[in-house]
Amino acid sequence: MVDERSAGAVVFYMEDNAEPEYLLLHYTAGHWDFPKGNIEAGENEKQAATREIREETGITDVEFLDGFHMKIEYKYRHGKRLVQKEVVLFLARTRTHQVTLSHEHIGFAWRKFDDAMQQLSFRNAKNLLSAARDYLQKRSLAYR
Ligand code: ATP
Repeated sequence: MVDERSAGAVVFYMEDNAEPEYLLLHYTAGHWDFPKGNIEAGENEKQAATREIREETGITDVEFLDGFHMKIEYKYRHGKRLVQKEVVLFLARTRTHQVTLSHEHIGFAWRKFDDAMQQLSFRNAKNLLSAARDYLQKRSLAYR
């Protein structure tokens, strides 16, 4: 049974024909991951992802790419409780490079693919970034 559900996105910035840069956030718990957060009552996944991106980064112009909808699952300990979590991630392009962090994070980075792969903390997030890059390449939106 899932205890927590979050939604977020692999957010990327790309000048014409340049290599995409992916947005990573440094969580206070220490890990680097994508913008995401809890889905609130009455919201669908995309609405939650849009809101979380806005709250966590100040970015309001996200354009979701059709058909990219992936899920990662993990468990973590919260005191004595084992929390089973599910996170749905979209792929979204922004034309904004400026990031305004909330108190929830201690840093951010725009990273090209290889550096983003190094910096992401968890294997499942790295796999997801690979899938996002494949998606962009298959649709000729990015060639690297
Ligand atoms: P949200 O951004 O969804 O509100 P949060 O900031 O409350 O989430 P998480 O990012 O889910 O919390 O982190 C909670 C715990 O789960 C941390 O201890 C973290 O190390 C661990 N964790 C986060 N992401 C993953 C992952 N992809 N795989 C395994 N463990 C993870």
